[in-house]
Amino acid sequence: AAKSAGRNAYCFFKPEMNARVAERVTLESRLRKAIAEGRLLLHYQPQYELASGRMVGVEALVRWQDPIEGLISPARFIPLAEETGLIKPLGEWVLNEACRQAVAWQGAGLPPFIVAVNLSAVQLADPEIVAIVRQALADSGLPAARLELEITESMLLADAERAIAVLEDFRAMGVKLAIDDFGTGYSSFSYLKRLPLDKLKVDQSFVSDLTVDANNAAIVEAIIAVAGKLGLRVIAEGAETAEQVEMLRRFGCDEVQGYYFSRPLPPAEIAGAQQRGTPD
Ligand code: C2E
Ligand code: MG
Ligand code: MG
Ligand code: MG
Repeated sequence: AAKSAGRNAYCFFKPEMNARVAERVTLESRLRKAIAEGRLLLHYQPQYELASGRMVGVEALVRWQDPIEGLISPARFIPLAEETGLIKPLGEWVLNEACRQAVAWQGAGLPPFIVAVNLSAVQLADPEIVAIVRQALADSGLPAARLELEITESMLLADAERAIAVLEDFRAMGVKLAIDDFGTGYSSFSYLKRLPLDKLKVDQSFVSDLTVDANNAAIVEAIIAVAGKLGLRVIAEGAETAEQVEMLRRFGCDEVQGYYFSRPLPPAEIAGAQQRGTPD
């Protein structure tokens, strides 16, 4: 045992790995500290209903405000947070903060809209997750129907039966459910029908070259058509141009979230983002 541990230790500290490992360890301890010291914040990206041009929801997107590096993107620390288990306290903070903010907007006189929160696979697998969500709603006073949880197709693969049971608990509570990055995973339409879903979010990769790639256009059109037949709302992620938005409108897409209408915004700027685009 000592011998194999020695060999592993040798492997672990190969010179070329050293820097990477050290960087990760540093990042992990800095993230731990940032969570404890309250240096995470949420930006919110508006979601617009195409038919009315109204902002009907926002997605909460976490950022890390580092005194030296500035705003650090979630792509850099969410995977690390998932590997280290830090995603649990981080995710619980996001949930509580998003619910609190939603109630604060309402208190400031904004019309009601949905707040969407991303859940990671680690959170969905947490036996406490239903209680954590229920507590966030109770503490904030946010009506359950104003909270939407975003999960990805791959999160349903590992232990599908358990995942479905959790989704059904959320549904029973009145919380909304969306499949994020739809089309990049492995769910089949027949499987989707069995899930208690409200919304599909068409992945950005299909939307970004919608107007130049006929195959992607066909895929997006088909997703929108099937979702409609299944009674699900469809939102397209990552629309950046008027041409993309026009095509999505033509396909009958319900909502759009993308830079064309708005980047993710600090909470104070959401009041000024209530209406965009031209109603048909
Ligand atoms: P996502 O949930 O798919 O969020 C959409 C991402 O696309 C956001 O990146 C958003 O800023 C970006 N985006 C939106 N519209 C456009 C557009 O028109 N063009 C381009 N190029 N990008 C656009 P962001 O904020 O960097 O977040 C990246 C990912 O990090 C999210 O992808 C989500 O998977 C994860 N994430 C963010 N916040 C959280 C969180 O609180 N918890 C968990 N578990 N994951 C989070
Ligand atoms: Mg998302
Ligand atoms: Mg997405
Ligand atoms: Mg994405």
